[in-house]
Amino acid sequence: MAETTYFKKNNTYAPEYGQLIICPQCSCEETHMLPPEVKGGHDNHEAWQGRGSAIFIPMYCENGHAWDLRIGFHKGQCFMDVENVRNEWRNDGMR
Ligand SMILES: [Zn+2]
Repeated sequence: MAETTYFKKNNTYAPEYGQLIICPQCSCEETHMLPPEVKGGHDNHEAWQGRGSAIFIPMYCENGHAWDLRIGFHKGQCFMDVENVRNEWRNDGMR
């Protein structure tokens, strides 16, 4: 997978909050999240391309893009990336 930028490390708005999540499609800083989904991988690649389980956080930006922020477990290591980047307007995020 090509390297995708989905964090802004040095945000000036609130640096004490940590890295700012930005849209991987347009770098928009106004992003929203939806309730996460946990999938069991059963050591058999059933949740994501790795063997273990994964957490998917549905995200969207205010310019009409959506994606999943994924943390996946594989043989004692956890990997984070974005998946399923798409054009999709949403307005039902968590507050
Ligand atoms: Zn966007």
